[in-house]
Amino acid sequence: MFVDSHCHLSSPELADRLPQIRAEMRAAGVKRALCICTTLDEFERVHALAESDPGFWCSVGVHPDEEESREPSAAELVSLARRDKVVAIGETGLDYYRLGSRSVADMEWQRERFRVHIRAARESGLPLVIHTRSASADTLRLIREEKGPQAGGVFHCFTETMEVARAALDLGFHISFSGILTFKNATELREVAAFVPLDRCLIETDSPYLAPVPYRGKVNTPALIPFVARRLAEIKGLSVEVIAETTARNFETLFLRSVPRSCDAS
Ligand SMILES: [Zn+2]
Ligand SMILES: [Zn+2]
Repeated sequence: MFVDSHCHLSSPELADRLPQIRAEMRAAGVKRALCICTTLDEFERVHALAESDPGFWCSVGVHPDEEESREPSAAELVSLARRDKVVAIGETGLDYYRLGSRSVADMEWQRERFRVHIRAARESGLPLVIHTRSASADTLRLIREEKGPQAGGVFHCFTETMEVARAALDLGFHISFSGILTFKNATELREVAAFVPLDRCLIETDSPYLAPVPYRGKVNTPALIPFVARRLAEIKGLSVEVIAETTARNFETLFLRSVPRSCDAS
């Protein structure tokens, strides 16, 4: 069984052809997926997806790139996190990649939003789904300042250095690898993947983005997660079955720790 630990099934590219995507997932042995929320407006749609399938769960949070989006309070996040099938807070974090004419100092709103999410995660007892891009030092600093390790979570779609991976692991976080692992120029990332202990690894598609080779540039779906698993298996020198099993178990440990077995899909 494969698990996609991070996908955007509510995105327009995927939402219109869900029956087909579900069929492709079944055919590929992808039984579970975490549907990621990026704005409060999107939450009801993401949550409905999670409720529609025993193998789907969802998160609640506002993505750091959603600048115009309504700002959540910690209380609101905690309240939405109490709903059935909500198993994570995020995606949240920092993204300084598209600063444009702004400086890092201008991004205080993003840092404040991230702090609110970390507080909500601690209060709700749910793990964080962390997005970090060109902002690893501040991401790690805020996690430490807000006692993020009490909530734990995952650095999703990891593209950072070995040093950042080591710091994230030291803070008790998991690390999730996407289709970028299969890209020709991702040599450094493959070295990081070789280093991260398997019991702290997750895999994800981040669909509809980042389709793995040989589908690079096309619309990604959770049905393509086996391509990420296969590449990680090659890097680790293990079978794809072991990668699938272990990353599925890691997903369960991190996200389904408070979910009663009766809600469990097998
Ligand atoms: Zn992200
Ligand atoms: Zn995402």
